[in-house]
Amino acid sequence: MNKKIRVMIILIILFGIFDITDFKELMAQLNKQTDISKSIYYSPADSGNIVERFGQLQIDGNKIVDKNGNPIALRGMSLFWSQWMGKYYNYDCIEWLRDDWKCMVVRAAMGIESGGYLTNPVLEKAKIKTVIDACIDLGIYVIVDWHDHNAHNHRDEAISFFKEIANEYGNTPNLIYEIYNEPQQVSWLNVVKPYADSVVKHIREIDPDNLIIVGTPTWSQDVDIAANNPLTYENIAYALHFYAATHKQQLRNKATNALNKGVALFVSEWGTCESSGTGFLDSLEVENWSKFMDANKLSWCNWSIADKEETSAALKPGANAYGGWIELDLTQSGSIIKSKTVAWSDSILNRVENDKSELPLDFELYQNYPNPFNPSTNFGFRILDFPANLPTGQAGGADVFVSLKIYDVIGNELATVVNEELAPGEYNFPFSISHSSLSSGIYFYKLSASSRAATFTDTKKLVLLK
Ligand code: MG
Repeated sequence: MNKKIRVMIILIILFGIFDITDFKELMAQLNKQTDISKSIYYSPADSGNIVERFGQLQIDGNKIVDKNGNPIALRGMSLFWSQWMGKYYNYDCIEWLRDDWKCMVVRAAMGIESGGYLTNPVLEKAKIKTVIDACIDLGIYVIVDWHDHNAHNHRDEAISFFKEIANEYGNTPNLIYEIYNEPQQVSWLNVVKPYADSVVKHIREIDPDNLIIVGTPTWSQDVDIAANNPLTYENIAYALHFYAATHKQQLRNKATNALNKGVALFVSEWGTCESSGTGFLDSLEVENWSKFMDANKLSWCNWSIADKEETSAALKPGANAYGGWIELDLTQSGSIIKSKTVAWSDSILNRVENDKSELPLDFELYQNYPNPFNPSTNFGFRILDFPANLPTGQAGGADVFVSLKIYDVIGNELATVVNEELAPGEYNFPFSISHSSLSSGIYFYKLSASSRAATFTDTKKLVLLK
């Protein structure tokens, strides 16, 4: 007796003992490769190019919105100070961050003092441009960060650098400027804002629209103070930085105050540990912050892609400069963050919805009739109001590619009933097995309907009685 028939006999016995409505669960256990759950995936085919999909970002009220005006929160990684971790400023590393970590954005942190840009402008600028070019090629966003605690003392250098960047890249939607990483304990009104006004003015003369992130006093924590006297330019976000083991609810309250005053925030740098960049990894506060940032749709970059021996570094010492990291190459922080960037990307790109009531779709796969059958039966389904648009509002397409196939209990494809593009509507497809050698038993039929905007699948059981 062959294996399939034995499985089938066992199944028939089992179905006699257990409630047959439990068959889905049973089948899932018997064969994981047979997808028998109903699910919706939004546009998995379109997940490749983030920037193509979300386009030119803008600020609308206290939110970052995509090219269609829908709020969007980016998730990604900050590289470490360019003068000390330049080895990760390469194409392969950025590609790995996009493909394996699902980063939507990478922050290139150009060190200014301490042997950085002020000392080696050509060298450091070249590293930044390598990252910008990679991000553009790979279709993700890139933050060009003037990584400085005293930028107001380097205003002319910053202006000339950002003018060059704006001239070269200001017409690409990928680029985000960050003009002052972390001012220290200096006045917003008298020090940081005048600096920002001056740098932004020069950028805006060249690039009228790309986002500019402006640092705030006290290591980019005083977002509420900046919100009291914001810049008058368009498309400005204020930097909110935190380290989870040091900055907690009090800083979230400041952030809420700033948001309530109507300014947009961008968490261009945050760490899982103490503000020193090392010490205690505060898992509880990481989760509190994560929830806060998700709820407020705050974009973030985690600090940092580095293999330095410190808690905030995502990589263990010696991790390859060109990506390809396995789990063992990641620190605890790296591992936590990677799971977050991947989950976020999945949630917005391949969004799986289980609650049908929230879906704008009208579809149904009907039970075949007659069932059990021999030799003929009918497969019916309804595909109405199939989304022509992506959740982001981006145009999808009206036609739906439909396939309806029959499988045996171990997931082998046996027959194709439908495999074509259909307009939304109600359908019935007759099917006959009169010339087939299929034996009596339980089979499955799976409907898959995909537009550019979404994919719907549903699987039901049919019984052949000869
Ligand atoms: Mg522009």
